[in-house]
Amino acid sequence: MPQIIDGKAISAQIKEEVKAQVAAYREQGAEITLAVIQVGNDPASGVYVGNKKKACAYVGIRSLAYELPEETTEEELLTLISDLNRREDVHGILVQLPLPAQIDENKVINAIDPRKDVDGFHPQNVGALCTGQDGFVSCTPAGIIQLLTRSGISVAGKECVVIGRSNIVGKPMALLLLKENGTVTVCHSKTKNVKEVAKRADILVAAVGRPRMITEEYVKEGAVVIDVGIHRNAENKLCGDVDYESVAPHTSAITPVPGGVGPMTIAMLMYNCVEAYRFRERNQ
Ligand code: NAP
Repeated sequence: MPQIIDGKAISAQIKEEVKAQVAAYREQGAEITLAVIQVGNDPASGVYVGNKKKACAYVGIRSLAYELPEETTEEELLTLISDLNRREDVHGILVQLPLPAQIDENKVINAIDPRKDVDGFHPQNVGALCTGQDGFVSCTPAGIIQLLTRSGISVAGKECVVIGRSNIVGKPMALLLLKENGTVTVCHSKTKNVKEVAKRADILVAAVGRPRMITEEYVKEGAVVIDVGIHRNAENKLCGDVDYESVAPHTSAITPVPGGVGPMTIAMLMYNCVEAYRFRERNQ
């Protein structure tokens, strides 16, 4: 039987740790604050933003909500970010993606002060990760490292295969696994023989965005399988990028969907907000 990596329990543990740290800073008079910006009313974004606000309230972080209309211009959004960058009482800034078509996402990401970029998307933070320097790390891959570490799974010396190369998940995931001394291969839509490459993995991370694509044919006997995907199937039930039923019996450890990687993202966002506060305090 594989070890089921319990993202619900591990994320709850991280949130409790963050809550205790936030309470300790509050005792010293600090109010850690995250500004959350949503443009338009995409229902999925609304759910994500709602969950982030709830998590802030739970751990004791103040959240400032900016709900801007769909027709907001790029200039208006950049002006708001510039104001928030300057505000002493704001430690973290998060812009919920995707943005409406009239706004250039890269311009917006680049406009956020890297010291407040709790999503870890700013090129300065990505560069820091690339060169082994301190900075914010994208929450989902950072959460996956926590899942592995806290489940007693070491990465050093292992063959790691990441399927997917997005800026938010695949690329930072590969860099983090490399930092943990894994031997890392990244697959994408142009990779030949993805099955054969994936089958080499001791640790396989599926961030491909295709429901249940990863079947047992992609998985080496005894591998650790991390499923980043989130989809709704025909019966409106959540499923991942991994065909859990066929794959799980062949693994030594696996994340379920739901209850695996999903809850880690917000827990790591909370963690990054405390880091943003600490960074400010250290550098004042
Ligand atoms: P994305 O931006 O769509 O990237 C998907 C990646 O998979 C791309 O790099 C793409 O290659 C690659 N790919 C697509 N089809 C492939 C194939 N047949 N073989 C090999 N590679 C293939 O997705 P994402 O933002 O990284 O997200 C991935 C999944 O994770 C989605 O299901 C998303 O909903 C989920 N997600 C979950 C969380 C969470 O909190 N749990 C957070 C973020 C994302 P190319 O680059 O060549 O196009």
